[in-house]
Amino acid sequence: MDLGIEGRVALVTGGSRGIGRAAAEALGREGAHVVVGARGPEGVDAAVAALRDAGVTAEGIIVDMSDPHGPADAVTRAEALLGPVDIVVANAGGPPPGRFVDADDAGWDLAVQQNLLGTVRLIRAALPGMRSRGWGRIVTITSTSVREVIDGLALSNATRAGVAGAVRTLAREVAADGVTVNNVLPGPILTDRMRQLLSSQPDLDAAIAARGAQNPTGRVGDPAEVGDLVAFLASDRAAFVNGASVMIDGGESRVVG
Ligand code: NAD
Repeated sequence: MDLGIEGRVALVTGGSRGIGRAAAEALGREGAHVVVGARGPEGVDAAVAALRDAGVTAEGIIVDMSDPHGPADAVTRAEALLGPVDIVVANAGGPPPGRFVDADDAGWDLAVQQNLLGTVRLIRAALPGMRSRGWGRIVTITSTSVREVIDGLALSNATRAGVAGAVRTLAREVAADGVTVNNVLPGPILTDRMRQLLSSQPDLDAAIAARGAQNPTGRVGDPAEVGDLVAFLASDRAAFVNGASVMIDGGESRVVG
């Protein structure tokens, strides 16, 4: 299937590692020109170098999604580097784990800034150009916790639900302008985030294998599998997929719908 995004410009935040990086690579493989954004220059440089080695037109920018000005600056700089942004993948690191009763205002504030408002601000900055050109794809990365909360991830559960609501609302507002907005809900995917969440276990490899054994597939997911889903949702072929929250969890969630 030709996804029809050759030459489209994509901005992927949180793109130096894990799911974001895999999304950048999948979009690049389909011929999109990719701007990778993350907080650390070394990670960004490495991701850009790998993309260029694979023949992708790629640039990097530094962005902190929790900074109120970060997302809008990212769009401005991405457009200065590669031209109008057609595809946005809104992604950042997840909030730290913890129970609801243990989270204080500072923790809530950072999670809301990084994982809810950061996404909102990024979309708001890219959207007017997409609408005026009559084509745009917005993909947010959240979690299966949108459907079924995960114990011990209070800040994540709450902020992801906010993103899902915003996506569903916006999708209906912008569909007539050729813009789609969709939400990807990863289950257990083997990235640094998962390694960090399992880091308290004495044997990390055994902990990863045990986590995989809880999944109907018997394994954890590969970031590239999520990247391919993102690329499809960002494609021309997915023009009628709008407002969806798409789970990619190997069938782990028991929730219907
Ligand atoms: P990761 O920690 O491996 O990578 C996160 C990326 O975001 C890195 O490139 C990091 O540099 C960047 N980043 C972190 N904070 C940032 C910020 N404030 N501004 C800009 N960039 C920032 O994480 P991942 O596993 O790839 O997860 C991506 C998202 O998906 C996270 O929000 C995570 O919580 C969520 N998620 C992951 C899993 C999983 O199993 N891996 C499952 C469900 C949801």
